[in-house]
Amino acid sequence: MRVIFRCQFCDAVPEAATQLNLEHSLREFAFGQYLDALPGRWLVWHGHGLLGPVRYACAEHRGDLTAFLRENYGTIAPHPWKRPPYPTSVRTAGTDRALRLKAQGGQGFF
Ligand SMILES: [Zn+2]
Repeated sequence: MRVIFRCQFCDAVPEAATQLNLEHSLREFAFGQYLDALPGRWLVWHGHGLLGPVRYACAEHRGDLTAFLRENYGTIAPHPWKRPPYPTSVRTAGTDRALRLKAQGGQGFF
C-alpha cells in the first residue's frame, strides 16, 4: 500500500525520491524530533504523545510548520524550538554524534 504524504499547509505531494525518504522516516522512533526528508527538503515533525501527531511540510512551508509547532507546543516542551540543521534520520544523528565524540577523545557511546 502506498502512503500518501501531503503538506499540511498546501496540496503539495513529494516527488518520488523524497516520497521514499518519507516512507523510511515512518520507521523512525523519535519523540519531539524534526527530520529533513531530502532531496525535496520536506520537514517531518515526529511529535507523539503530548507533542501531537507526525506532521509534514513541503520545502516552501517548513517555516510555517516550525511556527505552528512552536505556537502550539512551545510552552510544554523545548523540542519544537530546535534550530536547523535537522538530521535526516535519528539513527544517523546518533551515530554522527557518537563518532564526533570518539574523534574528540571524549567519553562517548563506545
Ligand atoms: Zn506546502
